[in-house]
Amino acid sequence: MTFIIAIDGPAAAGKGTLSRRIAGDYGFHHLDTGLTYRATAKALLDAGLPLDDEALAARMAANLDLSGLDRDVLSRHEIGEAASKVAVMSPVRRALVEAQRAFSRRDPGTVLDGRDIGTVVCPDAPVKLYVTAAPEVRARRRFDEIVGRGGEADFDAIFRDVQIRDARDAGRADSPLRPADDAHLLDTSEMGIEAAFQAARSIIDRVLDR
Ligand code: C5P
Repeated sequence: MTFIIAIDGPAAAGKGTLSRRIAGDYGFHHLDTGLTYRATAKALLDAGLPLDDEALAARMAANLDLSGLDRDVLSRHEIGEAASKVAVMSPVRRALVEAQRAFSRRDPGTVLDGRDIGTVVCPDAPVKLYVTAAPEVRARRRFDEIVGRGGEADFDAIFRDVQIRDARDAGRADSPLRPADDAHLLDTSEMGIEAAFQAARSIIDRVLDR
């Protein structure tokens, strides 16, 4: 049976980096499910269509090709904002969750990261991690990342955005952001990626009985 690792947490908690690292180490397929919401939003924006038409957004979601998700193109801030708006729509979520579940069954194993993997997409995953960090720490990481790429950033604006995104993700009626009851919590506020990876690895290896 496919081994599924479900990783959830708020924006900029480090779950993307951690998920890629885990997938690389175990030789598993990785899906950043945030990209599926981002690609749906981008398809609407590119076509000049409104973001608040549920039927239209759901059609875009149903036609999404998971093999064509480009992280560089989709990582833009406005696309993240638009993604969290289409992500409140149940018909959009139903279409994307179906595609995500199909992906999760790939052999020999998969790592999916997002907001609702352990609670909704793969509730039976044998390993669930909830990766979080204090809002100021997450905002600081985003800030450093943008400045590191040579861009300009305003810390206060980023901090505000992190809080708004958290509130929208945790407050929506359908699949709100929350740890699954059986998730292992990993607070990365004072942990580098290597320490987070080692902590995750010991949890995964225990389940794999290595
Ligand atoms: O993780 P990322 O910032 O790329 O996600 C963009 C948005 O997509 C999130 O703010 C969230 O609203 C939505 N999302 C979601 N469920 C997931 C992954 C992302 O609702 N599993």
